[in-house]
Amino acid sequence: MTINIRDIQHYMYCPRRFALMRVNGDWAENAFVVMANIMHENVHSGRHNVKSSSKIEKSSVALYNDELDIYGVADCVEFEKSAGGCAVPSLEGRYKVKLVEYKPTQPRDGEIRETDAIQVFAQKLCADYVWHCDSEGWLYYSDTRKRVRLPFDTDFDRYYALLTGLLTGMRNCFESGLIPPKPQGQQCGGCSVENLCLSKTVKYDVKSLVIKGEDVCESF
Ligand code: SF4
Repeated sequence: MTINIRDIQHYMYCPRRFALMRVNGDWAENAFVVMANIMHENVHSGRHNVKSSSKIEKSSVALYNDELDIYGVADCVEFEKSAGGCAVPSLEGRYKVKLVEYKPTQPRDGEIRETDAIQVFAQKLCADYVWHCDSEGWLYYSDTRKRVRLPFDTDFDRYYALLTGLLTGMRNCFESGLIPPKPQGQQCGGCSVENLCLSKTVKYDVKSLVIKGEDVCESF
């Protein structure tokens, strides 16, 4: 199963959310989703494509890694001229590659959200695969206008183990076709599919109901 990097965050936030969206095809937006969408529309509009003598910035860059069977779109990729960097098709010279992911808000405690870090780490593995480089990962927070470098050099093994474990869990979940129950202690306040999720029984699973010939329309 090929995984969209975007879905890793849904699974990390709550495996039930991931299954509702990807097994059942449920979806709903809330204010957080709309805010993030507006910010990303702005980032991906093309106005962020910049070129100078030392750096080229491209927004909305498609990435993939065939070995991990994942793909996604990076908000922004910066190619900085560097003699020790990698070759990039269609660009002359050699470059250091920096991935920059935009987020609406910076955590108040100054910590890095693990979900954000894993998203950029997955992008990094794609960028490294595509350009044969050792890319850097960064987060840019719109509210504070600050940029933070992610510790992929020092914590590579930890992030790699975390990511591959998540991908295995996602594939198992998708292939089982089952909707897992609400995790114990799960915080649901910011979840956009809360109304769809909590109004249903733990065993809610459209696919099984259709196979059994039940009237699924009553569930909506
Ligand atoms: S409402 Fe809660 S349990 Fe349901 S999908 Fe969202 S986070 Fe998970």
